Amino acid sequence: MTRERDVAVAAVRSAARLCRAVRASFTDEFATHKDDRSPVTVADLGSQVLISLALGDAFPDDPIMGEEDASQVRGDTAGPIRSALTEHLARELPGLSGAVVEAALDRCGSVGGATGRWWTLDPVDGTKGFLRGGQYAIALALVHQGEVVLGVLGCPNLERADGRTGSIFVAERGGGAWELALDGDATAVRIGVADITDPAQARYAESLEAAHSAQDEAGLIAAQLGITTPPLRLDSQAKYGLVARGDASIYLRIPRGGYIENVWDHAAGAILVEEAGGLVTDVAGAALDWTTGRRLTCNRGIVAAPATIHEAVLAAALAIPDHRPT
Ligand code: AMP
Ligand code: MG
Repeated sequence: MTRERDVAVAAVRSAARLCRAVRASFTDEFATHKDDRSPVTVADLGSQVLISLALGDAFPDDPIMGEEDASQVRGDTAGPIRSALTEHLARELPGLSGAVVEAALDRCGSVGGATGRWWTLDPVDGTKGFLRGGQYAIALALVHQGEVVLGVLGCPNLERADGRTGSIFVAERGGGAWELALDGDATAVRIGVADITDPAQARYAESLEAAHSAQDEAGLIAAQLGITTPPLRLDSQAKYGLVARGDASIYLRIPRGGYIENVWDHAAGAILVEEAGGLVTDVAGAALDWTTGRRLTCNRGIVAAPATIHEAVLAAALAIPDHRPT
């Protein structure tokens, strides 16, 4: 797995550099909306191109399940997205043709499944956070025989313990959870979830976007647990990073309106928290089932917490009638 890890870390670092450069020169022309009205930017597309090409070079037979495809580039007839994409990609990988860029994006249409191995990629998770200058993440994971075996999570705007900004989290199944500086070659630091046994001592993290998680219900769960500290609200899988290094103890994602989660929104974060000493289930306590295609159709929402308090958190979640298993 060393090669997979090294390739994934280098690819996420390159994608993070592109995202930061896009952010630094951002204009409204760099963003558009997909059919489901969610935003997509030059950073999302560029990040997916770089990681798709890096994986394609190193592991040509591995399928990739990525969030984006080339339709936004093809539909960009006026050209601002296409030209900004070309310009930003050239800083990382000079000389890419338009055809190569489109093929790299379209290569990421895998539907995953229960057998073999495949990668899952969210090139910019938390695009709304990216747009507002908040948290976002580049999330890449490898799934083998239905189990996440490697997760790499780049968080360009996350502050580290040393006060600098930009983290990359890495977890391999059985190998623990690690945090490195996003840039530079500082040594990796082993991280772990909050060392608590009393859920009342917990601080929980949740989406900043109220549409993505029922904050009122999360508040009821927290009250039930005796938590008095207000939640940390932030975009993206950076929430899993905070739980993995103990800055938050719990991540609650309470489904609204029957929403089904995307695989790429959770695979990298989930292995990170598990390898840091946490448990990750859905709100009914079911294990996350990575074998159901591009979405977690057998699961609803997310509860991530240290193994010491996860059961108590679930019990509080189950006390809310909507979340009882049917
Ligand atoms: P977060 O930054 O944690 O709020 O999550 C961002 C992710 O939420 C995006 O990548 C979307 O895939 C996902 N998302 C979009 N709509 C919803 C929704 N209604 N409920 C939950 N998640 C959503
Ligand atoms: Mg996402």
